[in-house]
This record gives sequence, structure tokens and C-alpha cells, in this order.
Amino acid sequence: MSINGVPFITLNRFENGFREEFLAGVETLFDNTQFIGGPQVAKLEEKLKEKTEAKHVVGCANGTDAIQIALRGVGIDKDDVVLIPDMTFWATFEAVVNVNAKPVTVDVSRETLHWDKETFKEAVEKFKPKAAILVHLYGWGCPDTMEIRKIAEDNGVILIEDGAQCFGTKVHGESLLGSAKVATTSFYPAKVLGASGDAGAIFSTDEQIINTCRTLINHGRTSHYSHGLIGWNSRIGAYESLFLNMSLEHIDARLDSRRKAVKYYQENLQGLPLKIQEVPSHVEENGYCSVALIDPDLRGPLIESLKAANVGFGTIYPGAMSKQEAAPKYMAGSIDNGNADYISKAVLNLPCYAYITEEECEYVCQVVKKHFSNS
Ligand SMILES: *Cc1c(COP(=O)(O)O)cnc(C)c1O
Repeated sequence: MSINGVPFITLNRFENGFREEFLAGVETLFDNTQFIGGPQVAKLEEKLKEKTEAKHVVGCANGTDAIQIALRGVGIDKDDVVLIPDMTFWATFEAVVNVNAKPVTVDVSRETLHWDKETFKEAVEKFKPKAAILVHLYGWGCPDTMEIRKIAEDNGVILIEDGAQCFGTKVHGESLLGSAKVATTSFYPAKVLGASGDAGAIFSTDEQIINTCRTLINHGRTSHYSHGLIGWNSRIGAYESLFLNMSLEHIDARLDSRRKAVKYYQENLQGLPLKIQEVPSHVEENGYCSVALIDPDLRGPLIESLKAANVGFGTIYPGAMSKQEAAPKYMAGSIDNGNADYISKAVLNLPCYAYITEEECEYVCQVVKKHFSNS
């Protein structure tokens, strides 16, 4: 075998001609001094609608802002209680605190690694939240999405979906970003649809919500020097939008290559003490991450073998939200069944990125298999 290592992620696998086309586009934007707003941003919002089947979309500066703005956009205010999963990226927690609301962390399922409808219902009844943020992690959709949307609606809980990792995913055939009442995403460069810098977007089936978000993103402006709301500066940049517009032309091929890698691991790493998670058949994943679960006591030694063979890995995420040093001061409660904590010690992510080759996946599998045959 001709390779001697595989990174956890690399961003350098572009299609032929992508670099030249992007740099030419940057030149045009520069020459026209189109730095913020303009045709690339308008085009991006249209393309995102097309691709996600969303009714309304607004771009913004990053995925964390997108959550904050969505929270404010649906009317979340000081001291409102908001449920969030105990297993997510910290930005979900931060966004709630940054709008002066109070997060309640709710445990996830050990089987699906996401919220399950029973625990969600229990939390709704116990904490009577004003809103909840359903997070779709790992490039999957939460398998209980439809049930959770229904429970939220029946109980008057506003549901926001943090889809920072779920671009291109479906549950029961429905695009998550397109069918959510309000969803957000991140175009951080390492996400499946990454930009050339920070960027994000908000999606909604409700035009009024998007109009409010559009105002919040731009200093609460009602005209250039009239301000109807206290907002933010969270506008999306033109270079990032150009890069995203070009990336959207190739997104299907990029996602296919990732899904193929996840499948390769599933098929070639069977019968080992580590289990590559599979999504249920009603969920269509985008191949963002390969997720393996392994006994926490066996994870450390395997990581040592991966390191020795130059195989990159991730542990997404290595700690529950409620266990973070900054968390307790802000939490208004929690449901903790120990699952998020367990998952944080048991998850291992293998290399996965756009256009990862079969040779690279094979190398990773050989290192993993060799580790277990020696241990
Ligand atoms: C990446 C991510 C975010 C934050 O997005 P940024 O663009 O980095 O601000 C929020 N939530 C989840 C689940 C993420 O993965």
C-alpha cells in the first residue's frame, strides 16, 4: 500500500477547476467592491431554497449566530426556558445563554445518540419550556424528528432545529432544513457544505419569522438609519457566498463520496469490539461523520494505535453539555440518565471527508483490524 497515513479531515479535495473559478470570482467581486450583500448573497439564498426545499432562507455570519437570531426571531426573551440536548456542540448552549434565556439540558438516547420522543415528552411536561432546540448530529437526522415536532406543537413549545451538521439529510423522505418550522445551519469550512470562512443560514416555513431574522441580522434595521429592533451585525460575506454557490454545484458528489466512506467502514469493520453506527432506514444521512461506538476502556488503546499509524480521528463530542465548567451557573434544570456522558466517552469518529479514497478507507480499516487482532 502506497499511503502511510490518513487525516481525520482535510479540506483540500476540490474538483478540477474549482480553485481557478473561485479566484476569478473573487477578482470580479473585488473589482466591483461587492464585499457584503449583492448578487452572490441573493443567489445563495435562492440556491439554498432549491436544494433544501425550504420556503424562506436568510444567510448570516455563522451557525452560532443563526441559532441566536432564530431564538430571538421566534420571540425568545429573558429568562425563557429552552430545552437543549445534553449531547451537542457547545454553541447550542451558548446561543440560549446569549439571548438571556435559560437552558435545560435533556439527555439523549444511547441507541440513536439523539433525543428520543419519550424523554423529550417527559422534559416538556416537567419544565414547561417556551422553546426547544432539536439538534441533528453526525450528519444524521434525529430518528424521532416527526414525533418530537408533533409533541412540541401539541404542547405549544416552539421548536428550533440546529441543523449545523445535517445539510442534505432527510427523515421520512422530508428535507430536515426544508420542512422544519425554523432550522439553522453552519457553513463553517469543515461542515459538509463549508464556506471559505465563517457563514450560516436560517430556514423557515414561516415568512414572518424569516423577515424578523433578516432584520435582526442587520442591526434591527427598518431602513438604513431606522432601527425597529436591537439586533446584531451578522451579515454573510460575498466571498463566502460565492464559494458556497460554487460548492452547491458539487454538493451531491461530495455527499456521495462521504456516504460511500461511511458504508465502507460499516462493511469492513464488522465483528470487532467497535460498532459503526447505522442510521435507521427512514433516515437519509449526508456522510458528515463516521461514528463508531466502543467500550470506553478500549477507546484509549485504539486511539494509540491510530496515532502510531498516522490515522486521524475525532471524539465528537468528548463531554456532555451539563458537565462543562461554564454550564451549571446558567442551567435551569436537566434530565440526566447518564447517556450523554457515556456516549461522550464511547464515540470514536474515523476519517471522513469529501472525496476520501477507497485506498484511504482501506488503510484505516487495516489499522483498526490489526489493533484488535493484536490486543
Ligand atoms: C458547528 C456547529 C454549530 C456552530 O456553528 P458555527 O458556524 O461554528 O458558529 C452549532 N451547532 C452545531 C451542532 C454545530 O456542529
